[in-house]
Amino acid sequence: MKRPTSSMAIEEPGDQGRRIGAYRGTEPGPLVICIASLHGNEPAGIEALERVMGVLSESRLRMCGDLVGLRGNLQAHTAGTRFIDEDLNRVWQHDRVDAVLESLRGGGSAPDGDGAPMVGSAELAEQRDLLAAFQSEHRRARGPIHVLDLHTTSSESAPFTTLGDTLRNRALALRLPVPVVLGLEEQIDGAMLHYFDRLGWANIGIEAGQHRAASSIDVHEEAVWILLEALGLIEEASAPRGENRRARLARRAEGLPRVLDVRYRHVVSEEDGFRMHPGFTNFDLVEAGQELAVDRRGPVQTAFAGRVFLPLYQRQGDDGFFIVRQRARVWLTVSRVLRTAGADRMAAWIPGVSPHPERSDAVILARWARNRYVIGYLHLLGFIARSESGGRVMVRRQEGPGPRPEPPPRAS
Ligand SMILES: [Zn+2]
Repeated sequence: MKRPTSSMAIEEPGDQGRRIGAYRGTEPGPLVICIASLHGNEPAGIEALERVMGVLSESRLRMCGDLVGLRGNLQAHTAGTRFIDEDLNRVWQHDRVDAVLESLRGGGSAPDGDGAPMVGSAELAEQRDLLAAFQSEHRRARGPIHVLDLHTTSSESAPFTTLGDTLRNRALALRLPVPVVLGLEEQIDGAMLHYFDRLGWANIGIEAGQHRAASSIDVHEEAVWILLEALGLIEEASAPRGENRRARLARRAEGLPRVLDVRYRHVVSEEDGFRMHPGFTNFDLVEAGQELAVDRRGPVQTAFAGRVFLPLYQRQGDDGFFIVRQRARVWLTVSRVLRTAGADRMAAWIPGVSPHPERSDAVILARWARNRYVIGYLHLLGFIARSESGGRVMVRRQEGPGPRPEPPPRAS
């Protein structure tokens, strides 16, 4: 192990509020912002970051760059619930964020209209405060910014990452030896990570396991250390217990595909009386026609074979379950080559796909072209369905104004 260099870094205490802690390296480098408990009933990320900050301040580890830990939904965390008035991971639509930013700039209360936030919502206050925190961290950044959003699931699960499928986010996710799940963000409107794509900050969500499992804290801690090493903030194996960290994390997802994507989402509402059958673990294999749950209308079966994903075992939430399937690694390579070569700009040449009359980054699908071949090809090029228009319009993901994506990581 490398000898820790004394008084080389500045430890910044948490303020018992938004900030869990911060550690500023003596040399400039990337800024890693970790957000924990964006869902208030997911405290594992907070405990993991407290551990990492504790180790850093005790060992005075040499760091090139900065690490910051932020609490997500403070009020819901205190109450021990996923959210108070609205899900804080569903409120980051462009219009709403713009309205909240405007109110932060002193533009008075947020304006009315489509993007108008829910008046008096607890989460509106959280969002304002988080946006202000992101702005102040941005001002202090001394290098490229990377965001890790730390979550846990209601069912038991192997760890995995989720991301908006830009090349930059992919490169970050593939640095962790756990499955990458693509396409979840297309199903979910207003996830926080979308906002960082706008800013050009690399970002991924890390799902560590069940909400209350002690192993979820370990997974988050391991993931943070691995990324600090991979991004060059600390030297490999310089942190305590750093040996074999990658292998330890990889073992927790043993036997699972490296890349999967979402093929089906079962949406539920409160009136449905949806109840998942007990015993499903994330990524369990299921067959087409298998009964997974019951609701008011009777048995709920999956139309697709694959792996059951995020089965709902908590009261709040509008996703009953998803079905995911393995995606071949070659798909990642082909899509990277096409996007890097600018082939994404030729999407409107595909039969049944025409340019959007107002947006240069969007295309419109003819009704007959709304099949999995055309949509799959558009996914390859980096387009996603825009949920509000039911998938008829597909928009190219922004790579954002930041630096070009990093080269792909070494195989793992
Ligand atoms: Zn969550």
